[in-house]
Amino acid sequence: MAILISGGQIIDPGRFNGIADLLIDQGRIASIGADVKAPTGVMKIAAEGRLVVPGFVDLHVHFREPGYEYKETIRSGAASAVAGGFTTVCCMPNTNPVNDNQAITEFMLERARAAGLANVLPIGAITKGSEGKELAEIGDLRRAGCVAISDDGKPVMSSLVMRRAMEYALAFDVPVVDHCEDLHLAEGGCMNEGLVSTELGLPGIPSAAEDVMVARNVALAELTGARLHLAHISTEGSVRMVREAKSRGIHVTAEACPHHFTITEEAVRGYDTCAKMNPPLRTWKDVQAIKDGLRDGTIDVIATDHAPHATQEKQQGFTEAPFGIVGLETALSLTLALVDEGVLSLEAAIGKLSTGPAHAFGLNKGTLAVGSDADVTIIDPHEQWKVDPTKFRSKSRNTPFAGWKVKGRVHTTIVGGRVVFDAAVGEQ
Ligand SMILES: [Zn+2]
Repeated sequence: MAILISGGQIIDPGRFNGIADLLIDQGRIASIGADVKAPTGVMKIAAEGRLVVPGFVDLHVHFREPGYEYKETIRSGAASAVAGGFTTVCCMPNTNPVNDNQAITEFMLERARAAGLANVLPIGAITKGSEGKELAEIGDLRRAGCVAISDDGKPVMSSLVMRRAMEYALAFDVPVVDHCEDLHLAEGGCMNEGLVSTELGLPGIPSAAEDVMVARNVALAELTGARLHLAHISTEGSVRMVREAKSRGIHVTAEACPHHFTITEEAVRGYDTCAKMNPPLRTWKDVQAIKDGLRDGTIDVIATDHAPHATQEKQQGFTEAPFGIVGLETALSLTLALVDEGVLSLEAAIGKLSTGPAHAFGLNKGTLAVGSDADVTIIDPHEQWKVDPTKFRSKSRNTPFAGWKVKGRVHTTIVGGRVVFDAAVGEQ
């Protein structure tokens, strides 16, 4: 069925920004303009006062299937994605079993097809079992449909293994995504190391644990020529090193998560385990550096690191509770807050959620160009709402933003020319 979205502000970052109509036909963007001719029987969506943007692309989610379906399934994760305006999500391989072979990749793609909500693109493991020792069959993973490789959750500690991974990744033309953390430096830590960790008596993770691995990975990307994507950078040092690497033409891209530019380690006071994630919440200075990095293009991508955990797991003590928070349904509002703050223009903010990630992974997504897949998100940028985790489509509720009054809400999400989420009725 054809869909005519009329009267909205269409923002296709870097290509178009203005009030216009958008016609979707046969699953593709058919035309954009002032007086679009719609076929008879077209479904009409009035978008006056709303933004019409490319469906968001999240390069970093954990959907927990296979293995931890009580936290999230591919279906519930995809429902959470489209409720947050995300039409394409890339799933990290730390499932059980780990996505280190074709069979798991195909299983995930099959579950995603059955859910029929968002485009779910698996990320394959770098090493077998993500154990950091023996390389996975990167060519097989690529052929089965993996769009990148990563051992996220665990860093690849051996520099030699990482070098070999980058050499293979270059040959198969996939980006290597690393969770930058020196496990020896970070050992036993559960929050950022500094004044607050000392006051709370909690073991800390120094920012150097991230910085040294960013430095190593940049050096290896320079050595091999591979495409390096740095997951969830959180420190001033990381931003500085990525900026310098880019200025020298090294193939590096970087992502930041909304929590890392919205709150600091101060949120850990009160021992709320929903303020526990890895990398940890950092200092005010780090938050400023992340914002500067977003502003000057050092950071290409906003990704959620959506990491669902069951309530009883998060109800343990701060040192025992697992790392991670859910993020798909709050990312847009937290990103739009950067526009109000003057950090990003509206177009740049939308770009960090769409064109930026699509370019980083070389995906044919994140655009409203005529002929491209009709993945479209319609947003009310002014609507205020209160974050209520009990209303999340995700199976999990672990967010530090419960009760926050935020602005900007997803109204409609369209994937491949089909409405998959409508705020008035829920996912379709
Ligand atoms: Zn990670």
